[in-house]
Amino acid sequence: MPDTIFGQIAKGEVSADILYQDEEVVAFRDIGPQAPVHVLVIPRKPIATLNEAQPEDAELLGKLFLVAARVAAQEGIAESGYRVVVNCNAGAGQTVFHLHLHVLGGRPMQWPPG
Ligand code: 5GP
Repeated sequence: MPDTIFGQIAKGEVSADILYQDEEVVAFRDIGPQAPVHVLVIPRKPIATLNEAQPEDAELLGKLFLVAARVAAQEGIAESGYRVVVNCNAGAGQTVFHLHLHVLGGRPMQWPPG
């Protein structure tokens, strides 16, 4: 299966404003920010959607959330508040089929989301 744009970012083939990376996870700014802070957190492993995540990915999934919290702190929105979103499949608005967490903050958030 060909890489998505996020797979290419993870491999360093496409540039992005990277805020954090390690051997398993990369966090970078969204190209079309929906809030003053809008960061995407992805596994280097190309999992297409949350539906494809397997029991053996449990630790990796946990790590994505820990990196989200770390980035939120780094960006200064940990205390004011932020939202972590995973869109799963087209009906939920997923457009890039490489699992990612959106970390959004720096403005008031409405509930329920659209
Ligand atoms: P989704 O709709 O799949 O949940 O989120 C995909 C996100 O990826 C969108 O918010 C979109 O702005 C962002 N995005 C799409 N292409 C690129 C890109 O090439 N670079 C970066 N940094 N973000 C991208």
